[in-house]
Amino acid sequence: MKKKLFLVSCCAPCAVAVIEKLNNEGRDFKVIFFNPNIHPEEEYIKRRDEQKAVCEKFGVEFIELLYEPKGWFESIRGLEDEEERGKRCSVCFYYRIKKVMEFAKECGDDIEVASVLGVSRWKDLKQVNEAGYKASFDTGIDYVEVEGRKGGMQERRNTLIKEMGLYNQDYCGCVFSKKNKLC
Ligand code: SF4
Repeated sequence: MKKKLFLVSCCAPCAVAVIEKLNNEGRDFKVIFFNPNIHPEEEYIKRRDEQKAVCEKFGVEFIELLYEPKGWFESIRGLEDEEERGKRCSVCFYYRIKKVMEFAKECGDDIEVASVLGVSRWKDLKQVNEAGYKASFDTGIDYVEVEGRKGGMQERRNTLIKEMGLYNQDYCGCVFSKKNKLC
């Protein structure tokens, strides 16, 4: 029997097509929102509320972990000037996925973790997966890759964003990414 899945989500636009697919497949999964990287807090709330609403629409459980930017800032200290897709992003992905894995550990021994952090075409999927496997090694929780780009997923994502009128932000999340306008 397949393990339960915790899906790490950064925002509704990146997660929506994956949620739809997993739901259609009858997969037992929950969406976990842990994004202390997102600034300012109003932006965090906007993305969180939209992700929650999308989960409700699909009848999928949504769990928000504590918004704790202080810990996130400490984790990336010294990497503030890195370019997007650089070392700061590797640490950021690791930090967020690892936290969800630690939470999964508390919830049971039959849970694996996946993420949509690499769904956006502006992200380096390999970098996200490397962070996921590193977090898996450090926590003992399995990391699984989910397809969010190929096989028509990118097109479906764009369609759902339009159909549902989702807020598609123009930056990744942190104060350092704003200047890059990538997402
Ligand atoms: S640009 Fe995005 S992935 Fe990179 S550190 Fe900032 S919030 Fe994290």
